[in-house]
Amino acid sequence: MVDLSGKVVVITGGARGLGAAAAQAVVDGGGTVLITDVLEEEGAATAAKLGDAAHFLRHDVTSEADWETVLAYAVDTFGRLDGLVNNAGIATGQFLEHESVEHFRRVVEINLVGVFIGIKAAAAHLRAGGGGSIVNISSAAGLTGLPLTAGYGASKWGVRGLSKIGAVELAEARIRVNSVHPGMTLTPMTAPVGIQAGEGNFPGAPLGRVGAPEEIAAAVAFLLCDASSYMTGAELAVDGGWTAGPTVRALTGR
Ligand code: NAD
Repeated sequence: MVDLSGKVVVITGGARGLGAAAAQAVVDGGGTVLITDVLEEEGAATAAKLGDAAHFLRHDVTSEADWETVLAYAVDTFGRLDGLVNNAGIATGQFLEHESVEHFRRVVEINLVGVFIGIKAAAAHLRAGGGGSIVNISSAAGLTGLPLTAGYGASKWGVRGLSKIGAVELAEARIRVNSVHPGMTLTPMTAPVGIQAGEGNFPGAPLGRVGAPEEIAAAVAFLLCDASSYMTGAELAVDGGWTAGPTVRALTGR
């Protein structure tokens, strides 16, 4: 179903974790990917593993100048731009009362302002090419009030809202904008939480387990390709049912 042949996609924060899995999915679908990240060694290694269809550039998503460089590189090198995955992000693990104003601002700057600059900068290139698809990685924390996520949750709710504004404003340019809301997924970001793969290891989600990066990447690839051509402004929860409601066990004890 996922055919990305001929498509050129930029993925931010693609050195590792969900972004790296999404880059793999783009290449598996026949597309070309420009991975960007502040982690230069990891980013270059991830691109090298994917072969000729993947390139890497250092990119801080909070820098407008970096965004211009990255998008110009994609268009100059590959001749076009079809997709952008705004995936780069950092987490919070503090109670609201303990989170510093400085950290809150930093999280919002990367997770939300970085996405805003990306949409704004990419729109001009996508418009010039006749359209495209922007996929913004929000979170389950952008669908509900998750504890210990003050700056993070606020930024992810912002990404969800910004995606809808992008969807309605950019539809006339044939640019689709959707958000993906991963649940707890095993990546370097969540490693400190101590979660493990395997059935029953995450009873908070109805499916009872955490997600694998590839399971999130499959949704991203679907939204990038033409199989989702009638979807814009949608929010896709890929969370094992975590935000659908309480588990039967939590509700009934059974
Ligand atoms: P990760 O930490 O493995 O990857 C995030 C990447 O973003 C890193 O490579 C990091 O270097 C990069 N990054 C950070 N700041 C950057 C900046 N200023 N400019 C460019 N790159 C920067 O985490 P992940 O779990 O793969 O997360 C990817 C996305 O998925 C994030 O937006 C995260 O909030 C979201 N998400 C993750 C989970 C999860 O459970 N892992 C759940 C919901 C949402």
